[in-house]
Amino acid sequence: MGSLDGKVALVTGGSRGIGAAIARKLAEEGADVAVTYERSVSRADEVVASIEGLGRKALAVRADSADADALITAVDRAAEALGGLDVLVNNAGVFPRGTVEEMPLTDLDRILAVNVRAVFVATQAAARHLRPGGRVVHLGSTLGERVTGTGMSAYAATKAAVAGMSRGFARDLGSRGITSVVVQPGPTDTDMNPADGPRAAKSLALSAVGRHAAPEDLAATVAHVAGPAGAFITGSVITVDGGVNA
Ligand code: NDP
Repeated sequence: MGSLDGKVALVTGGSRGIGAAIARKLAEEGADVAVTYERSVSRADEVVASIEGLGRKALAVRADSADADALITAVDRAAEALGGLDVLVNNAGVFPRGTVEEMPLTDLDRILAVNVRAVFVATQAAARHLRPGGRVVHLGSTLGERVTGTGMSAYAATKAAVAGMSRGFARDLGSRGITSVVVQPGPTDTDMNPADGPRAAKSLALSAVGRHAAPEDLAATVAHVAGPAGAFITGSVITVDGGVNA
């Protein structure tokens, strides 16, 4: 018996990286799972197939998180197809780099739309479907608390904003027994931050354990707060960073 038997989850940005690992883990725990994605059609199909292989229902919906109408439609479609909603994971994120002297405002607007506005939009849409005892989990970043290099001010701002919003959601939704939690990764081995990439050595310089997280390290924590063990964890930020911000 899994901790999420009979539950329905939606993971934004679930075609690759941390989001794909979260989608699979929630399905392993018994949930039916929908994912959104922007471009990676075949990767999203693979995630759906692996969840169906576990005997769970799955659905992939193409929706650019920056497009509020598309995102709301995706949330509604997931709830309709899978039968309501118990868990929303706001995972989709982008990380365009650039110092304050050089970042174009188009990049700033895009990162604010995907990393911040979409978190509000998806949570608002999901709140119409979430059952009592529901969970909203957001992927933040240690950079939201501590900026360790150049070219990351816009990204850091978005992740700090997510932490603030999540505390507000915890207050707004608490009377319905719905929790809101930020799971905050440090360097994690995905396309966004490959363990063998040019920035790897620098991003590990502060690590206490000397390695990138695997996406599954984050998925385990998300599954924990999404399950019964998370009932009293709300308004919290949980850091999963191998000691980078220690
Ligand atoms: P990846 O770049 O590896 O994957 C991003 C995922 O988000 C993909 O599934 C992608 O789908 C989707 N996505 C991106 N933009 C959009 C969009 N506009 N609309 C819908 N889906 C979108 O990132 P990670 O897995 O590494 O990151 C996941 C989350 O964790 C992000 O919020 C990130 O900021 C955060 N994080 C990551 C860290 C790391 O070191 N990797 C560290 C700290 C935080 P598609 O391929 O279809 O475009």
